[in-house]
Amino acid sequence: MRYLTLPDGERIPALGLGTWMMGEQGSRGPDIIAALCHGLGLGMSLIDTAEMYGNGGAEELVGKTIAGRRDQVFLVSKVLPQNATRKGAVLACEKSLKRLHTDRIDLYLLHWRGNVPLTETIEAFVTLRQAGKIRHWGVSNFDLADMEELWALPEGKECASNQVLYNPGRRGVEFDLLPALRKRGLPMMAYSPLEQGRLLGKKALKELAQQRGVTSAQIAIAWVLRQDGVMTIPKAARASHLDENLAALDLKLSSEELALLDAAFPPPRKKIALALL
Ligand code: NAP
Repeated sequence: MRYLTLPDGERIPALGLGTWMMGEQGSRGPDIIAALCHGLGLGMSLIDTAEMYGNGGAEELVGKTIAGRRDQVFLVSKVLPQNATRKGAVLACEKSLKRLHTDRIDLYLLHWRGNVPLTETIEAFVTLRQAGKIRHWGVSNFDLADMEELWALPEGKECASNQVLYNPGRRGVEFDLLPALRKRGLPMMAYSPLEQGRLLGKKALKELAQQRGVTSAQIAIAWVLRQDGVMTIPKAARASHLDENLAALDLKLSSEELALLDAAFPPPRKKIALALL
């Protein structure tokens, strides 16, 4: 495993496990738990979940997955913006902890920015941290202007990460957000590195994958992880996908290969508003 460092020096894996679309009604719990256990066994010990996923169903499956090995896992969960009030975030976190069958979340994120003032949400995060219910807090889907507003607040500097959409087809963050996060020493957590699978059929990825004897998914993951300060959390419910994704850590793309991908997926030349999935 490769590691990144949070602002306080704690190391977290560069490749973790996503859980969106896991735990929805009708999804096969035992298969999902088996897949997540397989990922943990491979060293992908960061699990990303949220109260929103499957209406708590994903957190319940994660809780079953980490039972008996909580200390080996770096657990990330998220509060919905409408719950992110001073009292609401504390309550939402307590409910998440129950579903996760644990006493602490390692990184608790505001899922996206809503109408609740940031100061209120941060107050709740600080209360939760002081009570030992969360260890770090951060945000998700925050564009640069949101981050600047956050950093201007007294406790804003304690934000540990920003989780955003980033993959070869979604490069807007490279223009301004990623450099700003890097300057502050905040890891960027890239979600939907495969654009939920929609990227995999793209010609440039397929051709390069064929040349290198790997898969499009591995090219996309290696591309996302090519730069410092970026980690990612692909969701994979199949063991073979998890094995492939792990192997992408060893895949180094040459400057010629990166130039080929730049031609197919051009880097931003101006500000592009952050997209959400
Ligand atoms: P993703 O990781 O880009 O793609 C997941 C899809 O790719 C699944 O259908 C999966 O199939 C497939 N896949 C995984 N590895 C593969 C491989 N090696 N070869 C072929 N297909 C592969 O999409 P995502 O789930 O949207 O994003 C990842 C995680 O980020 C989420 O699960 C969630 O935890 C987080 N997220 C956060 C936000 C936010 O607002 N903060 C938004 C979206 C996502 P199988 O499942 O069949 O293996």
